[in-house]
Amino acid sequence: MRYISALHRSQSVLASTDGGRVSADLSGVIRRADACGLLEGEAGPSGLDTGQIMSWIDEQLVARGIRDPRVLDAMRRVPREAFVPESSQALAYADRALPIGSGQTISQPFMVAVMTEALGLQGAERVLEIGTGSGYQAAILAELAAEVITIERRAELADEARRIIVSLGYSNVDVVVGDGTLGLASRAPFDRILVTAGAPRVPEALTQQLSADGGRLVIPVGPPEQQWLKVITRDGDRFDDSTREACVFVPLVGEDAWPE
Ligand code: SAM
Repeated sequence: MRYISALHRSQSVLASTDGGRVSADLSGVIRRADACGLLEGEAGPSGLDTGQIMSWIDEQLVARGIRDPRVLDAMRRVPREAFVPESSQALAYADRALPIGSGQTISQPFMVAVMTEALGLQGAERVLEIGTGSGYQAAILAELAAEVITIERRAELADEARRIIVSLGYSNVDVVVGDGTLGLASRAPFDRILVTAGAPRVPEALTQQLSADGGRLVIPVGPPEQQWLKVITRDGDRFDDSTREACVFVPLVGEDAWPE
């Protein structure tokens, strides 16, 4: 398996296939019996057996630097295939973004892990996600934080994501339809805000709705062809900003982002 470390195409890889890699590729690389408390070969909640789970986690995430054990555990636990349309089931754990309808995508697993790790969640946080999409990232956040509010501008995606999230038993996720570039003032402040679509700039409302005491915003910013993951941390009126991985996301569309 080959990894691209500089540019992680999270969304717009859809037009170029990666050689038709399917979930079958994930088997038989490393087999450990201790993953997720399952016996070797036994299928877990993800539908993969222990060896398959360890393989994709090790190859796609650990080998590329994801270290937070809580993030790795969450990625092991959440069944990605539940969020992937029937027609793409064989690719559910492939190293790429996948279409979910309405011209949108479920992000590449590695990118989900990078962004989640960048949030630095400890467990007690209230998190706002902008761009629910399939609901997969929201489920990962629900494993790691106290409360997740996720905003999606397309009602049909929000409805389907809500259905899946509820069916998996998550009770700490609220899916809201709206323009996430405005944040959600009525429920601010948020300890963490994650934007999962590419923004032309950092929307002002999001930095203002960060909690003043160590609030953190993770957002891909840049032109449609490529963005950079920015991590902004708030301390009172001071905002510190660092730039991380290059990535490519579908556009953030709204009042304080790209036009329709
Ligand atoms: N987090 C998603 C997942 O786990 O499947 C992937 C998100 S997808 C890459 C980006 C999503 O952002 C799309 O569903 C798109 O409709 C949504 N979006 C774009 N602009 C938005 C906005 N202003 N407010 C809320 N959602 C927005």
